[in-house]
Amino acid sequence: MLEFVEHFLFTLVVAILASVYFRKGRDELIRVLLTGLKALPGVQELIDIVLHKAVASFVKTTSLADDTQVEKMQPRVVLSKEGISHEELRRQMILMKKKETNHEEGKIFAYVYTLDDDHFQLQKDAFDLFNEKIGYSVDHDTLVREFHHAFLHENALNPMIYPSLRKMETEIISMTAAMLNGSREAVGFLTSGGTESNMMAVKTYRDRARKLWPHIKKPNIVTPITIHPTIDKAAHYFGLEVIHIPIGPDFRADVKALEKTINSNTIMIAASAPQFCHGVVDPIGQISDIALRRGLPFHIDACFGGFMLPWVEKLGYPVPPFDFRCLGVTSVSADIHKYGYGTKGSSVILYRNSEFRKFQIYTYAQWPGGLYGSPSMAGTRPGGNIAASWVSMKALGEDGYMRKAKELMEATTKLKSGIKNIQGLCILGEPHMTAFAIGSCDPDINMQAVADVMEQRGWKMERNMNPDSIHFSILPHHVGVVEELLEVLKSSAQEVKENKSLAKKGTAAMYGMMATIPDKAIINDFIAEFFSEIYKSK
Ligand SMILES: *Cc1c(COP(=O)(O)O)cnc(C)c1O
Repeated sequence: MLEFVEHFLFTLVVAILASVYFRKGRDELIRVLLTGLKALPGVQELIDIVLHKAVASFVKTTSLADDTQVEKMQPRVVLSKEGISHEELRRQMILMKKKETNHEEGKIFAYVYTLDDDHFQLQKDAFDLFNEKIGYSVDHDTLVREFHHAFLHENALNPMIYPSLRKMETEIISMTAAMLNGSREAVGFLTSGGTESNMMAVKTYRDRARKLWPHIKKPNIVTPITIHPTIDKAAHYFGLEVIHIPIGPDFRADVKALEKTINSNTIMIAASAPQFCHGVVDPIGQISDIALRRGLPFHIDACFGGFMLPWVEKLGYPVPPFDFRCLGVTSVSADIHKYGYGTKGSSVILYRNSEFRKFQIYTYAQWPGGLYGSPSMAGTRPGGNIAASWVSMKALGEDGYMRKAKELMEATTKLKSGIKNIQGLCILGEPHMTAFAIGSCDPDINMQAVADVMEQRGWKMERNMNPDSIHFSILPHHVGVVEELLEVLKSSAQEVKENKSLAKKGTAAMYGMMATIPDKAIINDFIAEFFSEIYKSK
């Protein structure tokens, strides 16, 4: 009897799997198998062990290996009994920096947006004005008394304590709003970065929907697949669903798909100016019309382009409408710590008017510590960044930003035309500003392998997938390396074409493998495991 039951169950399982295979294909079959397998006792643990081993060996093959190996032999790091001398700590910091890629060599394609030493000194003064070299017309004692440490230790949490910070913040917001064609009604807040700005837009529209449309129980955001993951992160944190729509062959949002996807639970639309991966601006004008027709708020993630597109447009390059001039656009985020050339930890979230912005502000009236209000995620908001952002924008002015934009656009144009002459490589879509992605137009050239080869030669790569390509943000330190970059791109592509096994090694192999796994939960586990592995305490 038992045998019969077993046999019957086995046949049933095979029949179900076969039907999945014939109806939905191989990927779905693997997904069903994996999901079923993971439900069996012990299997998830087994997967975790395999995953841990895979990640550990992957980390060993990367440049992260040195640290993890050393760490195993050393005692745990605890607070030293006596403080270490400032001199020794300076020495240690310098030693650590020495081992790293210096961004001034122009081999990093994201993260660092630095200008000249004068600009840097001005930002440092915002944090710490006590610098005898400044030579203000105040006497030395006054300088020490009044400005010692400038904004380094100040906190914009309470807007009443440091009116200077409030003044700087409201001026930064006004300048940015005007730059992005907001009216006098436009308002906003400073945040710690693009992530916080985008998260605040999502939080604002969620709370607005709760008030205006209380019948919506499962709110969603409709947005292209190329939107920055910070929107997904916000939705995850704040309990919303994201419905991604595809992009067209031009790598811009598919407007028809977007309109069809909006449903009665949609509470906001989001698009990018430009999206980070390929540097193209979504069809914001058309989406704006849809937003107006449907009465939905429309957020523009201009974290990347907010401080670049206005100047690119003024220089006469074609830039599709992307800011408050599109009447359906209700908010725009723009990072000062990217092309605004501010210090890290500075971004702006703008709203068309205060009717939208009021939903961003968090308030709590029952705390024994008094009435509490906070405009953004952060409680303590570092004064140094606000002051450094303010001086950065004031010091550059429109002319300064235009000069930089011109230089970077010229370097970008040179690079793009150089790449057109490299066999097997092509630019994806028609990028609108100082960023683009290079894909392969030769089946023998695997772009992840090209990235691997370039990394071996000391360049730091930004990888895209679906399709595999390499992202390049053109930053001030790239202006001098245009020829060198073209050269290394050409020879790396050549090397990959001549040596097909490169596509089966290193990170290229990992991306290739990941692409074949239909169960994205495993890939998410892989990413989490990766972070656990490289952030082990020492
Ligand atoms: C950088 C970026 C973000 C996230 O900003 P952080 O400052 O890294 O938090 C969001 N969207 C786009 C398009 C970006 O380029």
